[in-house]
Amino acid sequence: MDTPNRKQDALNYHSKGRPGKIQVIPTKPTNSQRDLTMAYSPGVAEPCLRIAENVDDVYKYTAKGNLVGVISNGTAVLGLGNIGPEASKPVMEGKGLLFKIYADIDVFDLEINATTVDEFVTIVKALEPTFGGINLEDIGAPACFEIERRLKAEMKIPVMHDDQHGTAIISGAALLNACEIQGKKLDKIKMVVNGAGAAAVSCSKIYLSLGVKQENLVMFDINGLITPDRQDLDEMRLQFATERKDIKTLTDALKGADVLIGLSAGNCVTPDMLKGMAKNPIVFAMANPEPEIAYDLAIKARKDIIIATGRSDFPNQVNNVLGFPYIFRGALDVRASAINEEMKLAAVHAIANMAKKSVPEAVNQAYNARNLKFGRDYIIPKPMDQRLITEVSAAVAKAAIDSGVARKTITDWDAYTEQLRS
Ligand code: NAP
Ligand code: MG
Repeated sequence: MDTPNRKQDALNYHSKGRPGKIQVIPTKPTNSQRDLTMAYSPGVAEPCLRIAENVDDVYKYTAKGNLVGVISNGTAVLGLGNIGPEASKPVMEGKGLLFKIYADIDVFDLEINATTVDEFVTIVKALEPTFGGINLEDIGAPACFEIERRLKAEMKIPVMHDDQHGTAIISGAALLNACEIQGKKLDKIKMVVNGAGAAAVSCSKIYLSLGVKQENLVMFDINGLITPDRQDLDEMRLQFATERKDIKTLTDALKGADVLIGLSAGNCVTPDMLKGMAKNPIVFAMANPEPEIAYDLAIKARKDIIIATGRSDFPNQVNNVLGFPYIFRGALDVRASAINEEMKLAAVHAIANMAKKSVPEAVNQAYNARNLKFGRDYIIPKPMDQRLITEVSAAVAKAAIDSGVARKTITDWDAYTEQLRS
């Protein structure tokens, strides 16, 4: 896939001019000596004193409320593995860039040299004064589960591990729509999840919240089916253990299954496996950069399939950028103390519903498409659809208010929508 040219282009993109992808830009006038005396000493003392008196004023006088920390220790970077904090920095800068262009959220990317849960949690917790929210990124399983659980419990700003929940939210929306198109009910579908890592566990959890029955879900890791007697597994995975005795292999499990969720590794699923699936199967082959089964092979094996992948060169890309910028936008705008289940589910439904609305011409043009329309090849919106910010952020903000985690409310929703659009 990556030709030498493309690799060199990517290196040049990062190194040309000022190295890296982001910079800090002042937001206040800096033209005169007077401006500078306000920006720094002595003028800056006034807001300091106000904040010292009332700590919430930090949101009034500093950039905290629009600032997200994108924080990684580089232990599970993209599909590249544990390559270390420095090597993760291009990804974190990239994430910062996406937050900015899609939702006008400013980011400090922090790559920290801490691999134990305790060390990582201590460092991130101590950063609470700086940020309005924390996006944890590319942290390996199982440490990522405990890190997120503790930070959520111990911090009063929203914390979300995007590799878990971003993927869950987008693929959850895709699942709702794929089931609708294929004429399947969530509480009836038989689902096979291949992979038992960070993404698979959190996706499976959200699918259960959306109506999938635990007894209809089986999960595999690299060593095979997750069963209650396995000694090599933690609680996180064992909650998806199956008692079924009639299956051993992935091929067995896929016989008659309605849905295959792939969050494992490239090319581990064969056309024959798909041939055993039920009528109108749904396959989300999300391993990156190579899906569990190549798109072309899958559609050749099953004419009645709906398939989604993590790739932009095929229809139905499960791309986290449909979620995280807008989820944080909504959370920051109501000063939410958390990103809770209600907010995540609101994002799922907002994204799913958007795909059913008619697509603006600008979106067709951006993707060289003629007539994107809800159906087999368009089950989730496209990343460059500018309606995402209004639809998803407003839904998340509203869910935060309704679920009691917002510290600021919105009363004029039309004005808020207008503000999001501008
Ligand atoms: P992870 O925590 O490393 O988990 C990978 C899981 O897959 C592990 O449970 C591993 O088993 C299992 N596995 C590996 N090879 C397998 C095989 N041949 N058969 C069955 N299971 C296998 O990684 P992750 O963050 O969950 O991500 C998993 C994959 O999904 C990656 O390729 C990632 O790029 C992709 N992903 C895509 C999206 C997206 O499209 N938006 C989002 C997130 C992740 P062991 O536990 O036994 O090692
Ligand atoms: Mg990631």
